[in-house]
Parts: sequence; C-alpha cells; structure tokens
Amino acid sequence: MTIEIIINLTYVVAAGLFIFGLKLLSHPASARKGNFISAIGMLIAVVATLLDHQIITYQYIFAGMLIGACYGGWKARSVQMTQMPEMVSLFNGFGGAASLLLAWSTVLSIGVEPPGSSHHTLLVTLLITLLIGGITFSGSVVAWGKLSGKMSSKAFIFKGLRELSILHLVGMVIAGIFFISEPLNGLWLYVIIILGLSFGLWATISIGGADMPVVIALLNSYSGIAATAAGLAIGNTILIVTGLLVGASGLILTNIMCKAMNRSLMNVLLSGFSKPIEQGEVIKGEVKILSPQDAFYVLEAAQAVLVIPGYGMAVAQAQHAVRELQTLLEDNGCSVDYAIHAVAGRMPGHMNVLLAEADVPYDQLYEMDDVNPRMENYDVVIVIGANDVVNPAAKEMKGSPIYGMPVIEAYRAKSVFVLKRSINAGFAGVDNPLFFKDNTRMVLGDAKETINSLIKEFSD
Ligand code: NDP
Repeated sequence: MTIEIIINLTYVVAAGLFIFGLKLLSHPASARKGNFISAIGMLIAVVATLLDHQIITYQYIFAGMLIGACYGGWKARSVQMTQMPEMVSLFNGFGGAASLLLAWSTVLSIGVEPPGSSHHTLLVTLLITLLIGGITFSGSVVAWGKLSGKMSSKAFIFKGLRELSILHLVGMVIAGIFFISEPLNGLWLYVIIILGLSFGLWATISIGGADMPVVIALLNSYSGIAATAAGLAIGNTILIVTGLLVGASGLILTNIMCKAMNRSLMNVLLSGFSKPIEQGEVIKGEVKILSPQDAFYVLEAAQAVLVIPGYGMAVAQAQHAVRELQTLLEDNGCSVDYAIHAVAGRMPGHMNVLLAEADVPYDQLYEMDDVNPRMENYDVVIVIGANDVVNPAAKEMKGSPIYGMPVIEAYRAKSVFVLKRSINAGFAGVDNPLFFKDNTRMVLGDAKETINSLIKEFSD
C-alpha cells in the first residue's frame, strides 16, 4: 500500500470521527465526549498530513505546533467563562488568517505556467481563500473588540457607507479579474488582501453589538468556507472535509440565531445600511424594589418557579448558588424549571454550559417556545441577570430596536423577581418595560449575593 493510500484512509477515519463528534456536540450531556472525539480526529488528521512526502522540513512545523500548543493550553486554563465568546471570535479569526496565509504562500510559490483551465481554477480558489480568509480575520477581530468591550458595541454608521460598500465590492471583482489574468504580478495579490481585510473590518463595525451572536456564527461559517477553498487550492482532502463541516454547521447555527432574534440574515448584515431606528416611546411607571428577605417569603409559598438566567448570572458566577437554591426550593415542595433563550449570555449555549457546570439536570432546562405557552402557571419567575431576552418591548413597543425579537414572556407569570444591580439597559442598550410592570419586583444587587441571601433565609 502506498503512503498516499494510507494517508487517505486515515483521513476517512478522521472525517468519521469529526462527524460523530459533531453529532455528540448537539446535546449538552454528550458535548464533552463529542469535543474529545473530534480532537482525536484532528490529531489523526494532523499526524497523517505530516507523513506527506511534500513536506520539505519539519523544524518550522514543530516550532509552530509548540508555540500554538503552549499559547492554546495557557489560554484554555486562564480564560474566564464570561470571556468565552470573544475567545470563540478569535478562534474564528485565526482560522481565517490561517487560510489567508496558506493561499498567500501558495500564490507566491506558483511558477510560470501556461494558461489553462486547471491553472485558472487554482487561481479562482486562491482568490476566494484570500478574500474570505481576510474578511473572516478582520471581521472576527472587530467582533472580539465589541464583545470584550475594547470597542463600543454600537453600530458605527457614517454617511456614504452604502456607496462605499458597493464601490468596495466592485473593486474586489475588478482586482480579482486582474489577479487571475496576471498572477505573477504581485501587486494584485496585495490589493486583494487589503480589500478583503478592509471589507471585513467595516462590514462588522457597521453591525450593532446585539447582532453579534449572528455575526460570530456567520464568521465561523466563513472560516470553514475559507478552509474548504484553501483545501481545494492545495489539494488536501481533509481540509476540504473539515472546512465543509465547519461551514455547514456555522450556517445552521446562523439560521438558529436569526430565528431566535426574528431577523433575516440580510436584515442583520445590512442593518448598518438602513435608516436609523427610533428609540421608541418612553417607558412610564414605578419600579418596585424588594429585599431578599421579602422575596424569600414569596418563594417559600411558591409551588412552581421558573428561573431565567442571562449574562449577569455569568458575570456574578452565580450558577452554583442557583443550583443550591433550586435544591432548597425542591425540598420545600416547589417545582423548579429553567428557561434558556437561544441568545442569552454572550455566546450560543452560554447558559447551558454554566448550568451544566453546576450540575443542573438537563431535563429541567426548557427552550423559550416550551415555557411561553405555560407562563401563567408559574407562581414566581426569577430573572437572574437577564435583560434583553425577557424584554417585553420586543412585543409591545413598535419603535424599539428589538421589536419582533422572540423573548421569554416572563411578564405573564404571577410574579416576577428581577435580580440585577440596577435598572440599566442590557446588551442591546434598550430600556426594559418589564421592570415597571405591576407584577415585577426588582431585587437589586449582585446576583450571587442576592441568591446567597435567599439561601441563608431558607437555611435559617
Ligand atoms: P443582557 O446583556 O441583556 O443583560 C445582562 C444584565 O445582567 C445586565 O442588564 C446587567 O444589569 C446584569 N448584570 C451584570 N452583572 C451582574 C451581576 N453581577 N449581578 C446581577 N446582574 C448583573 O443579557 P441577556 O442574557 O438577557 O441577553 C443577551 C444579549 O447579548 C442579547 O442582546 C444578545 O443578542 C446579546 N449577545 C448574545 C450572544 C450570544 O451568543 N448569546 C453573543 C453576543 C451578544 P446591571 O448592570 O443592572 O446589573
């Protein structure tokens, strides 16, 4: 058996492990196993690729692997759970940058070849890799900046943005044509790289922070498409398969996120090009504050409680305290459910990960569509550091930027306790009429401290 056949058979095994890993990743209970199996698949793919006779020297490869492994290992240990979304953004960006660099070096290594269809196909795939890789890299860096608070999360929109975008796209097409017809002229290579990077930069800058979940999912898909194109350009089967899997799963996730926000993908991507939305009517009413002690008396008598966690639970690291409170409530004869909104927190699955860490049983977690129809049955809904995902402005205020987004209808429960530090707006920067409803009580303070006070009351 030649080495090529062995490598290809190994790639089939690796691809099988990726697909099986992805299947397991689709459920929280099996997700860790899925991650591990996919990582084994990647190790096998890397080792098989290293056996390739085309490799001239191993020293740079091993130096790169060592630096990457050390940095990755250190980051994996030190990153806070609340910083995971920006970390994911960076991962997407690195994927795009790797494809860009691969295409760049391939272009530089192209010798003088007679024009032919295969030569042109190669140049087209390299062009796609350069553009999508560049867009993914710079777009992900902006998403990282917005999510980590290093940049304002507001959409940066200026006059002439639409015209500039059209010009930019036309410029990419023209430069692409020149690149394919004169591949040995280095100028077009660098023009393409600059156009790709700059397009990603301000296409993402013009999207508001509240739409970042969709952008991250889409950039994830782009990094897969760039890898597929890179795989086609260098003729590496496993890179094509991996890229396709990432591209397809990213698109599925993008679709799920769009649905959760009731937006079309075009609406999200072109939000910077439409007219600014008015802030909507001013919310009138009185905010009623409740102490944890008084909240305890209500909870002690409750038969059915729904917990709605949000980003603030991650900031307060309150998940273990929430689990403890759940046990106390259940011991007191009360049923406890959790409602998870698809965009709660700062990354897809953020709340599921935190609650799994605190050993909250998966069968007590419900999606928004499961709990909304039976919201009236809950005696108390405890909103823990969530804001946008329970904002009734999405249903009631036509002028609101989040109007139309499906939200968990906490306001329809018998009573609502909102645990947060102030009545300030959430990530989308939109005021929340829930805080002013008759059946809502604000229990102000750090979520973990408030829950610990409730636990203390129960224990006493
Ligand atoms: P929000 O960002 O809307 O609200 C979180 C709230 O938590 C804040 O209003 C804050 O209020 C409160 N909070 C912060 N720290 C604490 C603390 N220590 N104790 C108690 N409360 C605290 O979060 P949601 O989860 O409701 O909504 C997610 C938002 O993020 C959506 O707009 C979504 O589109 C966006 N997003 C989601 C991503 C995803 O993939 N899930 C990715 C990127 C963005 P206060 O300061 O008053 O305490």
